[in-house]
Amino acid sequence: MADTHITWASIEETQRQLSAGTLTSVALTEMCLARIKAHPELGAFLALDEKGALAAAVASDERRKAGRTLGPLDGIPVAHKDLLCTEGVPTTAASRILEGYLPPYDATVVRRWKDAGTVLLGKLNMDEFGMGSSTENSAYGPARNPWDLTRTPGGSSGGSAAAVAAGLCFGATGTDTGGSIRQPAALTSLVGIKPTYGRVSRFGCIAYASSLDQVGVFARTVRDAAYLLHALAGHDPKDSTSLNAPVVDYAAALGGDLKGMRLGLPREYMTLPGMEPEVQRSVEEACRQMEKLGATLVDISLPHTRYALPTYYVVAPAEASSNLARYDGIRYGPRKGAQNATLREMYEETRGQLFGLEVKRRIMLGAYVLSAGYYDAYYGQAQKVRSLIKRDFDEAFAKIDVVICPTSPTVAFKLGEKVNDPVAMYLSDVFTLSCNLAGLPGMSLPCGFSSGEKPLPIGLQLMGRPLEEHTLFKVAHAYEQATEWHRRHPSLVGGAA
Ligand code: GLN
Repeated sequence: MADTHITWASIEETQRQLSAGTLTSVALTEMCLARIKAHPELGAFLALDEKGALAAAVASDERRKAGRTLGPLDGIPVAHKDLLCTEGVPTTAASRILEGYLPPYDATVVRRWKDAGTVLLGKLNMDEFGMGSSTENSAYGPARNPWDLTRTPGGSSGGSAAAVAAGLCFGATGTDTGGSIRQPAALTSLVGIKPTYGRVSRFGCIAYASSLDQVGVFARTVRDAAYLLHALAGHDPKDSTSLNAPVVDYAAALGGDLKGMRLGLPREYMTLPGMEPEVQRSVEEACRQMEKLGATLVDISLPHTRYALPTYYVVAPAEASSNLARYDGIRYGPRKGAQNATLREMYEETRGQLFGLEVKRRIMLGAYVLSAGYYDAYYGQAQKVRSLIKRDFDEAFAKIDVVICPTSPTVAFKLGEKVNDPVAMYLSDVFTLSCNLAGLPGMSLPCGFSSGEKPLPIGLQLMGRPLEEHTLFKVAHAYEQATEWHRRHPSLVGGAA
């Protein structure tokens, strides 16, 4: 199969074909499985569940025949980031320390997509435990960008981005602690949304930094993203941080122009040294397009943004060092050390051999900033700055409805380019981190391509008030309908499907 129409079709269009009987979920699922197997070079998947996927597709086709179709996602093939527990399907967080781990239960988000009738194809590659911005920290090899295989699809949810952008599946989950949905979405020309902290359940999501982690989705269009997120959002009594607030019908919020909408362009974001001129230009053009659609552009200031990176790199490692204490060779995964080793030796051998370098760096950093004598100077201070970052947004949202800015300062960088320079890697997230520190919803959507022989995608970021995902969807949809970026797809060379 070449790059057929259905590979790139929207979920809505695919659903229409399923309803019309010109397509079955089984045929669709087989096509996706064949395409995944034909493109191992993408490094997108860590595990496939062919039997489970086909069984779910058969069940979907039967429901349809009986007139009991479940909704817009019934029969649609999707996949999950490997940070989400899937009952009986390997879940490793891309770490050796969880190699072979088979969760005894589904994460709430996994369950909710199953309940919506989706077909789960398998698990997607990522940076180990979500720590990274390029997927090069996966213990199982990097994922590659379908727009240029020598480049990263971003991270940490790079497998999710590669899979959806390459047409291996119709949607995927990701998690976003500091940008891990939005940055890879930007680098692969996808729509990626990180909802408000607490909007989507984290039950069954392997914890990285619990006060920042949020599950969200990747899709090829804004409407697809609206369907996919709607099926996940909502209160979950199994997650104490989950918000008990009504869920807006995101798809119903789409349509209309942007009259009366006030978009805030933070001046600090547009003057960052290191930002590529083509990224800046595309974002400025997107702003002009928004004005044509009726929006008013407002100049705003988020002065504490410049402290977001150091604040994040205190808070996130601190929480990670605590969350990752549970991997001790006893409760999950493999164990290392000699037969007659003491308990301490066994811990050291297991954790020393099975955690990757970046994970160890974060654990050490986290343990240090939490240690007696340093706690107030680092962790306590970071918490105070976090409040100031949040206050900047509160003040801005008194004047505007949505913040508009770049998602990533650069287009996709070369694999290997930043692996030996952690700080350069951390800078990939300079525009996305503050949104997590403030707990706000954030989205990236395609807004252009670089020039050159192999054009690379550029992403536009929108951030909204807490629980105003529907406003982001509305703005993004109006922009998407007025532009053509979402119609471009990478052409995959090699592979038969
Ligand atoms: N790149 C950031 C980090 O390494 C963010 C990762 C994420 O959002 N999971 O922590």
